[in-house]
Amino acid sequence: MTTFQLDSDRLTEGIDRLHGQYRVIGPVAEGRFHNFRPLQPGQKPDFDFRNTRMSAKQLVYPQSQVMAEYHLDETREDSHILKEVLPDETPRAVFGIRPCDADAFGLVRRNFDTEEYKDPYWIQAYERATLVGLACEDPCRSCFCTSAGSGPYSTGGLDALLVEDPDGGYWFQSLTEKGERLREAAGWKEEAGSGVEDTIAERKKAAESRIVSQVHTDQLRNQATLDLYEAPFWEDVAFSCINCGTCTYLCPTCWCFDIQDETHGKKGCRMRNWDSCMYPLFTLHGSGHNPRGEKIQRVRQRFMHKLKYYVDKYDNGIQCVGCGRCVQYCPVNIDIRRVCELMNQRGSTGAACEV
Ligand code: SF4
Ligand code: SF4
Repeated sequence: MTTFQLDSDRLTEGIDRLHGQYRVIGPVAEGRFHNFRPLQPGQKPDFDFRNTRMSAKQLVYPQSQVMAEYHLDETREDSHILKEVLPDETPRAVFGIRPCDADAFGLVRRNFDTEEYKDPYWIQAYERATLVGLACEDPCRSCFCTSAGSGPYSTGGLDALLVEDPDGGYWFQSLTEKGERLREAAGWKEEAGSGVEDTIAERKKAAESRIVSQVHTDQLRNQATLDLYEAPFWEDVAFSCINCGTCTYLCPTCWCFDIQDETHGKKGCRMRNWDSCMYPLFTLHGSGHNPRGEKIQRVRQRFMHKLKYYVDKYDNGIQCVGCGRCVQYCPVNIDIRRVCELMNQRGSTGAACEV
């Protein structure tokens, strides 16, 4: 691991040098929010944000992706022949990913890159991206990353980390070979100051202490699945949900998609689009039967998947990094932290708690 200091000018000059070798992406202000967008030469990433509205998930796993195209014009030789659309393979340098979002890539990888199934789209996009994180100094009240297996200075899933220096500029830590290659391409040379590592460790500790929101997950694995599934609190949890899907779309760890054909005149394409377990169509069978036709079934599924099925399957924590987006943006204030407490306490109380 290499750690050194970068003043703002060197940071900007280095990022500018990457154009040509990388497609450079960073946070950009859009109205009241920040989102990841391609940066033009000379354009600086805007680091004046707490977290982007959409997570960094979309950089590796786009909301809509064309997989194949075809023509329906019978006069063409290639009529009705499906042709693969290859993804853009330009390496990408992404700046300003919050550590919770980067940790989410590790969780999602368990779905897209397994012994039995390898998703070429996700794997290629992840491998061609060099992810430069931005340590989090000013968490939102809804963040609970430290009790969800992540943290404001977590380095999981990152190739490099930028830490704000209170005296101006940043410390840059390269963490992987990809991070080192980016450092070289940016022309940043090591100029380590003495005691930098200790200073960063202190700042990390201070940042972690500012995460005031916590969830308890220690009993989730011990809970009987059927008992949780049948718990009476699901009625209360689901009551106000409008099944808008906002929580699943903003979540960096939600991975479900649907594949659909879209035709426009005599042309068509096959796309994969994010899908949501909150929508009734998600589980509608061709027969017309829907095993999750009721709202309560869909709401329960979302939380059972993240906080029980995933926990039991992987024995590696919950399927959530505590980014707080679903807490912040749910229009009816359904709060995963409270649902997690209900689920975690279920065996110990044997009764429903108030939502
Ligand atoms: S954001 Fe809230 S209201 Fe919308 S689907 Fe999720 S839990 Fe339901
Ligand atoms: S479940 Fe909510 S808090 Fe957890 S990672 Fe997803 S959006 Fe963030």
